[in-house]
Amino acid sequence: MPKYKIIVFANQKGGVGKTTSAVNLAAAMGRAGKRVLLVDADPQGNATSGLGISKRRAGGTVYDLLIGRLKADEAVVRTDFKNLSVIPSSMDLVGAELELVDEERRQYRLRDALRPLREQYDVIAVDCPPSLGLLTINALTAADGVVVPLLCEYYSLEGLSQLTQTIRQIKKLYNPSLELLGVLINMYDGRLNLTVQVMDEIKRHFADKLFRVPIPRNVKVSEAPSFGQPITEYDRSSRGAVAYTLVAEELIKRLGG
Ligand code: ADP
Ligand code: MG
Repeated sequence: MPKYKIIVFANQKGGVGKTTSAVNLAAAMGRAGKRVLLVDADPQGNATSGLGISKRRAGGTVYDLLIGRLKADEAVVRTDFKNLSVIPSSMDLVGAELELVDEERRQYRLRDALRPLREQYDVIAVDCPPSLGLLTINALTAADGVVVPLLCEYYSLEGLSQLTQTIRQIKKLYNPSLELLGVLINMYDGRLNLTVQVMDEIKRHFADKLFRVPIPRNVKVSEAPSFGQPITEYDRSSRGAVAYTLVAEELIKRLGG
């Protein structure tokens, strides 16, 4: 039995590679033989469209799970990629935070909804919006582990301490088994001094949590979503694909199965 099954890609900053990493690691783990479900909990729906699934298609979404209109398995969509299914996002997810504000167990909606799916998948990955609002709280409450994508910038460390504090709070209030599973450096450029300095700092604070391989800045990685493909399909020999494949291997090890 894997120790961690539901993993969440979280960082309250936008543009750090949550969606990119969720999509590409989910696909790479699928290629490696794991049965993977990607849950798109960001109203922007970039993980949905990045896997070639229309955001305007009829059918269930994460919103329907949160308001209790559908069961999770009714919202699952198969992708064209090996072992990879998605629960899509939709724009009405924007309103979910407000709609749920007075509801009972509002922090536990996603956890409750995903519970029946736990046995059907080896990994359930959740992509979060760039905030620490109710959608992210739902994701963290549902999760066993958090993966934090991070840029090598000075402000990243400040953001990271805020996030670890939120993780501690969620752990205390709603989800005692939540753990920081890993910190993933994205858009790494070893030629930049600042990158190296920030990397050293992150190592000092999160030595055992840092994924061994950083994800390089790679134009192929940014092109792939417009073709509705993960990088491992779009250009398997690109530096981005190689790095994501290695991180996926390390992630599978950390999941404990
Ligand atoms: P987030 O989900 O944290 O907001 P995204 O995954 O959407 O961040 O990434 C933000 C932008 O940066 C996107 O346009 C994405 O294509 C691009 N991007 C992410 N990672 C890389 C990378 N390693 N190399 C090049 N572009 C990247
Ligand atoms: Mg995103």
